[in-house]
Amino acid sequence: MAFVITSPCIGEKAADCVDVCPVDCIAEGEDQFFIDPDICIDCGACEAVCPVQAIYYEEDVPPEELKYLQKAIEFYKTYEGETN
Ligand code: SF4
Repeated sequence: MAFVITSPCIGEKAADCVDVCPVDCIAEGEDQFFIDPDICIDCGACEAVCPVQAIYYEEDVPPEELKYLQKAIEFYKTYEGETN
């Protein structure tokens, strides 16, 4: 399980989540930020600070936003930036 960044991030990209993530698993994509589901420890810190409520726990993602989990998985298949 992991947290997922959904559509409200697109065009917003506030990046508050990046600053609070204790394991640095949030990276910037072209149109939105993405959480690496393999590294996320489900702490919820990002969800609490997101100004547009774009972040959901995987089980709570609205059905119409579920594609964003797959989008994150696809993003990290090719992402080679530093996640530490
Ligand atoms: Fe990072 Fe915690 Fe958000 Fe996962 S839930 S992305 S570990 S801040």
